[in-house]
Amino acid sequence: MRIVLLGPPGAGKGTQAANLVAELGIPHISTGDILRAQVASGSPLGLKVKSMLDSGELVTDEIIMEVVIDRVSQSDCKKGFLLDGAIRTVLQARMLQDYLAKVGTPLQKVVQINVPDDVLLERIRSRQEQTGVTRADDNAEVAAKRLKVYWEQTAPVADYYEQASLLAKVDGVGTVQEVFSRIMSALRS
Ligand code: AMP
Repeated sequence: MRIVLLGPPGAGKGTQAANLVAELGIPHISTGDILRAQVASGSPLGLKVKSMLDSGELVTDEIIMEVVIDRVSQSDCKKGFLLDGAIRTVLQARMLQDYLAKVGTPLQKVVQINVPDDVLLERIRSRQEQTGVTRADDNAEVAAKRLKVYWEQTAPVADYYEQASLLAKVDGVGTVQEVFSRIMSALRS
């Protein structure tokens, strides 16, 4: 299956994505993970995107689409893929649709995990407290910024996919297992 996962920071996309790829046997593509690895390695791409990641701003569409198209065209993606947080603007969504149409492998489903803002901010706070590890982009100010960016730039992506009849909205409040079951039934429908 070729799937896009949408949802605000703190919605549980990463956890659900890990469970989904284990169930479906497809590669998990997280642009956030790819970019953080580039930053950690000090590559030219990493140096270019570091300040955007640290501040909670989006990386440019051009950079993201180069990363995404390069990754989905690798041979392990022939059996499908799960794009996690990889599509965050309407332009990215359009560019991906164009590319996938060109190569004859269109998306089959887009799942949006929805969680109210107050629950998201509380989850991010407790994740910091529990782990004691503060991701550079996980402090309260940056978390609020990332939510604002989500509502302004990424929420319209759901409308785009709704018009393409690809969108399934899933309630992200509940246990990991409950949300996972909702996503699986959304994928089957
Ligand atoms: P994530 O771990 O998915 O929350 O991504 C971490 C950061 O990477 C984001 O706050 C952005 O700065 C950047 N990023 C990841 N994916 C994208 C994307 N599709 N478009 C723009 N920026 C992105």
